[in-house]
Amino acid sequence: MTLKGKSAVVTGSTSGIGLAIACALAEAGANVIVNGLGSEADNAEAIRKVAAHGTRVAFDGADMLRHNQIAEMIAKGERDLGSVDIVVNNAGIQHVSPIEAFPIEKWDAIIAINLSSSFHTIRAALPGMKKRNWGRIINVCSAHSLVASPFKSAYVAAKHGLAGMTKAVALEVAETGITVNAVSPGFVWTPLVEKQIPDLAKSQGISEEAAKKQVLASQPTGRFVSVEEVGALAAFLAGEGARSITGANYSIDGGWVAR
Ligand code: NAD
Repeated sequence: MTLKGKSAVVTGSTSGIGLAIACALAEAGANVIVNGLGSEADNAEAIRKVAAHGTRVAFDGADMLRHNQIAEMIAKGERDLGSVDIVVNNAGIQHVSPIEAFPIEKWDAIIAINLSSSFHTIRAALPGMKKRNWGRIINVCSAHSLVASPFKSAYVAAKHGLAGMTKAVALEVAETGITVNAVSPGFVWTPLVEKQIPDLAKSQGISEEAAKKQVLASQPTGRFVSVEEVGALAAFLAGEGARSITGANYSIDGGWVAR
């Protein structure tokens, strides 16, 4: 129970990687605010899974497109759980398209959700962390924060931006007890990736199985990263043993960016 007494906000934690991170933090003893735009049933199921670890769990449906709602969610964490000690910026969306056909509203939404929402959570949570001289900010980036793929201009721009902001904020707060790090998964089997497979298969005229193999070709291990593995990395970075790790961008990508 290394995180006993700490409270965390995990954005986009009703599904996939965020849910696994919320579970890993709760398993380590943290209270958690679950957030996301899932259906009511999905949200209830996510809350049930996180609460199964026995810590306090609350839900906040803040939309990462709305900075007021983000600030209110952090204030709610401070009020209802007593503090926000850990912020995991995980909410994210994807859209794949050649840039000249890229819908402008998709570009704006990806930059807002995958990048700007982290600015808003950090901006709102830092004063409380500074007062308590303890904090952990974990930004869920991607292998696409380090390398690019075609047709993912907005996603690659947002993730490179988030990796840069991670370093800038880490330096700003280096002399406090607050660390700021990024985790950069390769392909993790979640709804976000699952949704890309039929499109890829269709666009290439191949089967979905062949499309999966094509996706995995960038990962030397030849297998998807699991959500639990990303959860374990986040829980490690949130712990006391990681207090000298800051401004880092941890790859968890089966060797993708080692090529
Ligand atoms: P997912 O689609 O399973 O989950 C996304 C979560 O974000 C959901 O809880 C959803 O409700 C929430 N969300 C989306 N828009 C939101 C909004 N406007 N406001 C609040 N919540 C919102 O996706 P995932 O694969 O678990 O991805 C999570 C993060 O991990 C993303 O930032 C993604 O870029 C990153 N990532 C994923 C992979 C992968 O292979 N799956 C790889 C690298 C990085």
